[in-house]
Amino acid sequence: MRTEYTTCPLCEATCGLELTIEGDRITRVRGDRQDEFSKGFICPKGASLGQLDADPDRLSAPLVKRDGEFVEVSWEEAFEIIDSRLNAFEDRNQIAIYLGNPVVHSLAGSFYAGPLRKALRSRNVFTASTVDQMPKHVSCGHMYGSIFSIPVPDIDRTDFMLILGADPFSSNGSLWTVPDAPGRLKALQKRGGSFVVVDPRRSRTAAAADQHVPIRPGTDVFLLLALINELFASSLVSLGRLEEHVVGVEDVRALVSPFTPEAVASRCEVPADVIRSLAQRLASAERAVVYGRIGTTTVDYGTVGSWAVDVLNVLTGNLDRPGGAMFPLPAHSRRGSGTGRGFTTGRWTSRVRGYPEIMGEFPAVTLADEIETPGQGQVRALITVGGNPALSLPNSTRMEAALSSLDFMVSVDPYLNETTRHADVILPTPPPSRRVHYDLAFFNNSVRNVAKYSRAVIPLEDGRLDETDIFFRLITILSGMGPSADLDALASMQLAALKEKAGVTWEPFGETREERLLDFKLRTGAYGISLQQLLDNPHGIDLGPLCERIPEILRTPSGKIELAPPAIAADVPRVLAGLSTVEEGMVLVGRRHLRTNNSWMHNVPTLVKGKQLCTLLVNTSDARELGLTDGGQAQVSSRVGKIEVTVEVTDDISRGVVSMPHGWGHDQPGTRTTVAREHAGVNVNLLTDDLRLDPLSGTAVLNGTRVQVMPA
Ligand code: SF4
Repeated sequence: MRTEYTTCPLCEATCGLELTIEGDRITRVRGDRQDEFSKGFICPKGASLGQLDADPDRLSAPLVKRDGEFVEVSWEEAFEIIDSRLNAFEDRNQIAIYLGNPVVHSLAGSFYAGPLRKALRSRNVFTASTVDQMPKHVSCGHMYGSIFSIPVPDIDRTDFMLILGADPFSSNGSLWTVPDAPGRLKALQKRGGSFVVVDPRRSRTAAAADQHVPIRPGTDVFLLLALINELFASSLVSLGRLEEHVVGVEDVRALVSPFTPEAVASRCEVPADVIRSLAQRLASAERAVVYGRIGTTTVDYGTVGSWAVDVLNVLTGNLDRPGGAMFPLPAHSRRGSGTGRGFTTGRWTSRVRGYPEIMGEFPAVTLADEIETPGQGQVRALITVGGNPALSLPNSTRMEAALSSLDFMVSVDPYLNETTRHADVILPTPPPSRRVHYDLAFFNNSVRNVAKYSRAVIPLEDGRLDETDIFFRLITILSGMGPSADLDALASMQLAALKEKAGVTWEPFGETREERLLDFKLRTGAYGISLQQLLDNPHGIDLGPLCERIPEILRTPSGKIELAPPAIAADVPRVLAGLSTVEEGMVLVGRRHLRTNNSWMHNVPTLVKGKQLCTLLVNTSDARELGLTDGGQAQVSSRVGKIEVTVEVTDDISRGVVSMPHGWGHDQPGTRTTVAREHAGVNVNLLTDDLRLDPLSGTAVLNGTRVQVMPA
């Protein structure tokens, strides 16, 4: 029996874990009290890591489909099949790639998904970003010049927080790495501060808030623009230190002029005096911050809404100052020069619907179009890495049909699930205990600057391949080097090129390819720490509180914060047109639960046991009028589909709104997830509409689907 320390890989919060290991099994998981960042916090997902790790349904060898049945094959055979099938496509655009959310939860995925995309040389790149956070990337790209410059609430030093469309009590942050978000929000209240939650549902966070402001789904943008309007109208604008770094303030004033509190009140279902008082509180708090998440991004006006969040932080002088919204500086990143080429989209467009590329990818909602529509460049093969697009993309019925029509599909995934059942080859990734861990992505969003690395706590068994090797093999296949290229030589070449570019002569340290690459990035990073230092500090290294980064972080050609970027300003008239839309009937929104994260934890017994999680929340008065009863079945239909789901009657949801979580619907034939099948739930994306998206970011509208609800 031994004790090892690692980082939980299951969500963005990066909690430190103390693992008890017996033989090749994790037998106990506790929060690591010595962890420099999470200080012992753990949630039910992290506590279940041992079960997830030892899940008997995890695949341990590559699978190949023969005569409709999956059979285990050697890694060599699997890669040879992939090589011959993928390289038979002369037009690379016929091969699409879908990168799911788990990619950013692994170091190999974070390092090598980019090179994999490059090696593929196809324009048909799709990721989970366009069913999630792309509007924030796009708005930050336009404002600061870089899609990765996303400011996060400095929660530990703020006095007032306005949270829209997010439930950090359940998520522990999203695009915001904040272990023990509940504890930090309670600490804010304890030191005399307060927080307000704007949400159509009284979530766990809303219930703990000083004020809950219910809102009509999808209308946060109107509320945000009215808050900006009120700042101008009441002379509450005060940029402070940022004054000399911002251009476009007067343009913003003109853009928001139609959005007075009175003009938006009935559309948002938020009284004008509540809007005015929120603006006053934001402006008068010593240190305040606005944070918007999924309820503000996966909606019709996601990019304008994401932009408005940052505009509020700028206009109240709360961007880039302690207690406001700040830019983390991870150990693997370097400081910027304060200027750059800025951000553009639309360098090419999608074949069928003409959607512009954004960050080199197309909206995930158009993947089915590209597969189904004949013509030159029609997608006939697909590579999926993590993710479960069969469940997570809108209009799942159509998506499933598209996946089943492909000529060839390869999936990198530990499970035979709703998506990978359509694959011809499945390449299983190892369990978390057999992987190294460093959060390349999430330290970018962290509420403190921290760094932590852990090696695999249990050695990889013979016959298994680590994730880096899987990525490298796919890269060599797609680069035409074949499945048996010398991977070490390739990695050395990559490192040599990086060293030359950085003018570095020393040899990076590490036992593996990704360790050497990480050591290089750390030692050339902002703090100059090394991998060895991280290995010597198994509970992580605290690099201090967030610090001011403007202007060095800016990458705009002007070297300024572009407060009214032309692309966003051009979308405001569409928002204004939407203000007068009359919406009747019920709308459907999602919800997050502490025990789940997308679809990938539903095969863990402790996380799905007890009260059913996949239910339709219906307001008590609505239920009475509709003839629905608690525990009964409702039929819910939309433009694209119809489902039956168990009803949960509650006062915690606004009238006219129903809510279901996503990632469920595990009753499909041909999967191998025993526990998930017993707790199948219903797939909400059988209802969401693949024709609705935020045009600036290509992001699916998953919140605010118009539905009809009746007893089943
Ligand atoms: S909050 Fe996230 S990182 Fe922390 S233990 Fe839970 S799942 Fe793991």
